[in-house]
Amino acid sequence: MSPRLPELPPDVFPAAARRVMARCDELARVTATPGRIERVYLSTEHARVNRLAAEWMREVGMTTSQDAAGNQIGRLAASEPHAPALMLGSHLDTVPDAGRFDGIVGVLMALEIVRLLRAPHADGWISPLPFALEVVAFSDEEGTRFGKALLGSSAVAGTWSDEWWSLTDADGTTLREAFREFGLDPGRIGEAARRPDELVGYLEAHIEQGPELDRRGESLAVVSSIASARRFQLVIEGEARHAGGTPYDMRRDALLGASEAALAVERICRGEHHIIGTVGQLEAFPGAVNIVPGEAHLSLDLRGEYDGSRDRVWDEISADLDGIMGVRGLRWHAREVHNAAAVMCAPLLRDVVREGILETLPRGADEPATIFSRAGHDGMAIGAITDVGMLFLRNPDGISHHPDEAVSIGDVSLGIRALAESVLHLAAEHR
Ligand SMILES: [Zn+2]
Repeated sequence: MSPRLPELPPDVFPAAARRVMARCDELARVTATPGRIERVYLSTEHARVNRLAAEWMREVGMTTSQDAAGNQIGRLAASEPHAPALMLGSHLDTVPDAGRFDGIVGVLMALEIVRLLRAPHADGWISPLPFALEVVAFSDEEGTRFGKALLGSSAVAGTWSDEWWSLTDADGTTLREAFREFGLDPGRIGEAARRPDELVGYLEAHIEQGPELDRRGESLAVVSSIASARRFQLVIEGEARHAGGTPYDMRRDALLGASEAALAVERICRGEHHIIGTVGQLEAFPGAVNIVPGEAHLSLDLRGEYDGSRDRVWDEISADLDGIMGVRGLRWHAREVHNAAAVMCAPLLRDVVREGILETLPRGADEPATIFSRAGHDGMAIGAITDVGMLFLRNPDGISHHPDEAVSIGDVSLGIRALAESVLHLAAEHR
């Protein structure tokens, strides 16, 4: 079998891209909030998009099932019945007031890959592949409803934690109750877990959610890794006193300390190319117009390509905060609330994605872009059981988690071709 797609009619990829875009529109209409896109885990909208995805999976010849965590799965067997599967996919859940492409486009592109690889072509069938193909529409990546991301893919990775059952949504419904209301049995969650020997790897296409490809004027990128992240809640303690009666030399203003801390985060992270730090929450206490703030709380989100440089930046920020707070007579402490190691994309899958992108470029073109993902993805969980590879599509202006989120039909068309070629390169490696 050739590691390349045969000559295909010129309209094959644009037609596939048009179908993907039309289905993104169709899924965007499945929403809990009219006029906006919102689709959370274990909702009626989740059930509806699973039914649509299952229909589309069957249309390309896959057998379908919904797993014990509400992930929708399609499978196309290999000629060898017990061959492991290459998993393709992404997620169908959204943040509130979402765009229509984040996650969704990756699931729909995966279906087009299956359609392409199993279709009879002029010089014979491209399939059978040496592995089965699975398309997974993960049920919860964003964590919008229960405040815990990657629930769907964690179940598949077998890293589900029983502590999560008591998580509640905004209405006080527990995750356990929501499972039952959706028709799932919490006692069977373990059945969603996959074994490493069942899988060849996991490949996901996703919009970039940042402007790098747009700035470079390129359509597609190889993803090198998914960022590591640490999150902290910082508390700064000073002294609350009368706003009128307290002269500046007596003030220990916690909010000013917090403000300097936020600026220090920006200054330090700007100097460190691969680390992004964000203070997204800032609150002053007691929070009255006529009281010098005695306490301030702020969040810190630190992401980086490598765990080591991220940790060094945190050490540097900590040292800076010691200095800032010392000068202002404030005390500070931090509680770490999240710590996820970077997931490096597997060298072989990086390589086949690169080969796939090269097939879409003119001969002699420059190397395709390689960038690390600053956003989290299902691959972070799936990396626990199998190799992960990702392909990024240009995201105009880098706007995501917003209704203006976009991807062009031309880039989707190139992405489908690149991903199909990647799968064939991987198949050649498996022979
Ligand atoms: Zn996503």
